[in-house]
Amino acid sequence: MPRTSSLTLPFLLLAVLVWTLAGCAGLDLLAPSPAFFTAIPPTVTPNPNPSPTPTPFQPLADASATEIPPATLTPVPPPTLPPTPTSALSLPPTPIPVSVPTRPQYVLSVLLDYTNHSLSVDETIIYPNLSADSLSSIVLAVEPNRWMGAFQLGSLAINGQVSADYLLSGQRLEIFLPQPLVPGAAVVLNMHFEIYLPWMSFSQIFGFNIAQVNLVDWYPFVAPYLSGQGWLLHEPRPVGEHLVYDGADFEVTIQLADPTLPVTIAASAPVEPNGAGMRYTLSNARAFVFSASTRYLTSTTTVGPVVVTSYYFAGHDAPGQAILQAVAAAISVYSDRYAPYPYASMSIVETYYPDGMEYGSLFFLNKDFYRDYDGTARNNLITIGVHEAAHAWWFGLVGNDQALEPWLDEALCIYSERIFYETTYPNLVSWWWNFRVYGFQPTGWVDASIYDLGSFRPYTNAVYLRGALFLEALRVRIGDEAFFAFLRDYAAQMAGRRATAGDFWAILALHTSADISDLRQAYFKP
Ligand SMILES: [Zn+2]
Repeated sequence: MPRTSSLTLPFLLLAVLVWTLAGCAGLDLLAPSPAFFTAIPPTVTPNPNPSPTPTPFQPLADASATEIPPATLTPVPPPTLPPTPTSALSLPPTPIPVSVPTRPQYVLSVLLDYTNHSLSVDETIIYPNLSADSLSSIVLAVEPNRWMGAFQLGSLAINGQVSADYLLSGQRLEIFLPQPLVPGAAVVLNMHFEIYLPWMSFSQIFGFNIAQVNLVDWYPFVAPYLSGQGWLLHEPRPVGEHLVYDGADFEVTIQLADPTLPVTIAASAPVEPNGAGMRYTLSNARAFVFSASTRYLTSTTTVGPVVVTSYYFAGHDAPGQAILQAVAAAISVYSDRYAPYPYASMSIVETYYPDGMEYGSLFFLNKDFYRDYDGTARNNLITIGVHEAAHAWWFGLVGNDQALEPWLDEALCIYSERIFYETTYPNLVSWWWNFRVYGFQPTGWVDASIYDLGSFRPYTNAVYLRGALFLEALRVRIGDEAFFAFLRDYAAQMAGRRATAGDFWAILALHTSADISDLRQAYFKP
């Protein structure tokens, strides 16, 4: 149902684009929105859905992952504009001489009307075809379109040519190309769109409420493509995250419609002054998210070169400081155990969503965790906070299909809590096992998908809690030295890519010859 548009596009912006590196980030699951779910054309995924990762306890949500060649952090030259046709009968279109980046590039220019909860956005995507297939269309995820009236596409251009040849249905936008995109080539997409944020209901992060606006999965992004299989865009479910992400580079500018408002913005990357607005660059991340509020108080610390900032509401100074220090400590622990922290900053954002939710270099934590903070490390604020921080590695650095193989990030993130406690609060390890795992008497297969189990508790018990028990059993079986050598190798080999269970087992086998068949039999589907 393409719609014709006479809107003009900021094509000229292409000529001045300067690409910096960016990375990938991940998201959490959205509860099914009240929006309509239109049937999705049967062309796409052989698999159901992907998305970010949640944490046990409250309703979950999380997401991420992508399969992109090891990222080079070399700036990509600006794309060249297509030649202007000299006559209506000119020769067949020639390929656009666009420099082919090593991963998708996103340039987003945002005008944010905080008071009216709306955004006007110009987006440019340079998408390289890194697959072995010629692509006749490009499939994008458009999460805001799950909410009725939240997403309005004003215009689209393909390689500088205005196009109405697309189909937007639910969360899926398919753009049909005038000529196939061959392997190794890139296409430039320009869009202008408006977002009218929905009220943030319970179990929802995207939207606005009296305290903040949260922009997660807010721009159309290209779904991962699997050679010979198709586009990876899964259906949402009430538990778990359904989106899957390629690593990508982002350049984002945000300008306030009313610059006199004292709005504080928490984002996936450090802010750089940019005239009247703010500019952010993020390299090799799963997503770029941000949250804005006139009520945020902030506190900042550093861990080596990494700037960590806590954004919290009035009355929550003590928990706001406590989670800042805990996450800073967690970044040190995980950097030592897994891989260097992959981003320049980490933002911790208090929210109304009733759990934690990670997006790589920014995560959200529920306000009740702050309210209930008791001055110790024995609470949801600290356990779930360091869990979400671990997603910078397991979701951000190493992606996965969050819908079909959520254990790959969630089991490792809940086990990361254990690693944080044994390192930082060794006398609380037994407390942690009882509080987080044993108390739930978990059952279920670790490798359940978000479609296998219908509600939060059975899902988290199987994927998260039994996942932690499996990793503990594995560690005991192969020993600490092999266990941590494996995790470091797994992080190094899968950095910037999307790992599968096959990768997990194959890399594990490089570090141990122990027979673990009984563990696989006990914890994983037959
Ligand atoms: Zn998680």
